[in-house]
Amino acid sequence: GFVNSAQPTPSPFWRQGGHLLPSRHFFILCCGAAMSFAQLALAPRLLENLQALGYQQPTPIQQAAIPPMLAGQDLMASAQTGTGKTAAFVLPILHRLLTDPLPNPSPVRALVLVPTRELALQVHQSVEKYAGDGTMAALVYGGVSIAAQVAALQAGPAIVIATPGRLLDHLRQGAVSLAQLEVLVFDEADRMLDMGFMDEINALLAQLPAQRQTLLFSATFNDAIYSLGKQLLQDPVRIEVAPPNTTAAEIEQRVYVIDSERKREFICHLIQQKQWQPVLIFSRTRQGCDQLAQQLQKAGIGALALHGDLSQAGREKVLQEFRDGSLQALVATDVAARGLDIPELNYVINLELPFVAEDYVHRIGRTGRAGKKGLAITLFSPEDALLLEEVEAVLDQRLPQQWFPGFEPDLTKSQPDTRRHGKAAQKQRAKQRALGNKGGRNKR
Ligand code: AMP
Repeated sequence: GFVNSAQPTPSPFWRQGGHLLPSRHFFILCCGAAMSFAQLALAPRLLENLQALGYQQPTPIQQAAIPPMLAGQDLMASAQTGTGKTAAFVLPILHRLLTDPLPNPSPVRALVLVPTRELALQVHQSVEKYAGDGTMAALVYGGVSIAAQVAALQAGPAIVIATPGRLLDHLRQGAVSLAQLEVLVFDEADRMLDMGFMDEINALLAQLPAQRQTLLFSATFNDAIYSLGKQLLQDPVRIEVAPPNTTAAEIEQRVYVIDSERKREFICHLIQQKQWQPVLIFSRTRQGCDQLAQQLQKAGIGALALHGDLSQAGREKVLQEFRDGSLQALVATDVAARGLDIPELNYVINLELPFVAEDYVHRIGRTGRAGKKGLAITLFSPEDALLLEEVEAVLDQRLPQQWFPGFEPDLTKSQPDTRRHGKAAQKQRAKQRALGNKGGRNKR
């Protein structure tokens, strides 16, 4: 599954001539030749742990990222969840700690910055999984009591995994020093910028030693990420890996034209009659998530919403229920679902198209993992025609609209104006996008 998923992406990563940093280029076109973890010359202890986990061989991003990381180089990598990117930076960090040990309590030697608490937890789990015992990692994120985190930081962890805002609080209170940092990792840098963390990031950078290794991982690349890269990285190696299976045949994509007021009924039909479960449903807004989850519950379906209004404990509980199969449907916002590793998902439903086309790619990437077949469907209304065009442009693929038998749109009703390039349409879209983008932290 992993090996075949490496393809040049259609993203403009390489085409932004004006923004290219002087650097070496790595293209991962096809990694047919089997490369082993042993060939990557990782510490024997790590090789044993990987073997115990049943990992047969490094994924493409691991094959490309681990050697330059071990050589101490900076890195700019385009990779999404599901590609094995976490191990790609965690393993070399652990290798460094194992082969160049310092006495406990250790200074903070590696810092992983992440946009969300969920991603922090996942990275932490990876560290524990690959390290076995003995490596100390502290978790730092907002929304929970600060005292327990202070204690964890004072115990002398070699690795800190943190969201930027809360880490800054700790630094300001003197609970932690990053003066001896050796490795800095940005995970999902694009999402960190989307969420408005740039000020916090700059304040953090001011407190880090200039002499360090810096790695920037991002699912998408745009001007903001490039300028962050320019600011942070020295002669970086660049790596690009396609999002898992997005262009591959493992995910079947269907776009159903349907009247808005029949969407809920349609989703119930799919879950109950067609046995589409477990299913992950995306909505653009928190309110939309809550509403749909409640409507599904009324229809007797085990459904819960996942979004930023929930407490940390609440989110973890919802996720746990979804993972262990006690929920039939999870209704999530893009931000809440970002970075979550939800295994074995066959069905994804988009209640509406996302305002940001790249989010569509993230959404459907939740299915069709590891070579399994996945089905991603989008409930489409004509006023989203331009959003669909954008998604098609990002995918470089047409998504034909179809009708679902029994849920055909009512053509006797007056249709909205679908002239796509009219002034009014453009204005409305600009407004929608502004809400979708800028409202990130509050609305999604
Ligand atoms: P990530 O993209 O980091 O979220 O990883 C996705 C999933 O792939 C995680 O559940 C990892 O445990 C798993 N994984 C990472 N590397 C490998 C590998 N080399 N072989 C098999 N599974 C892996």
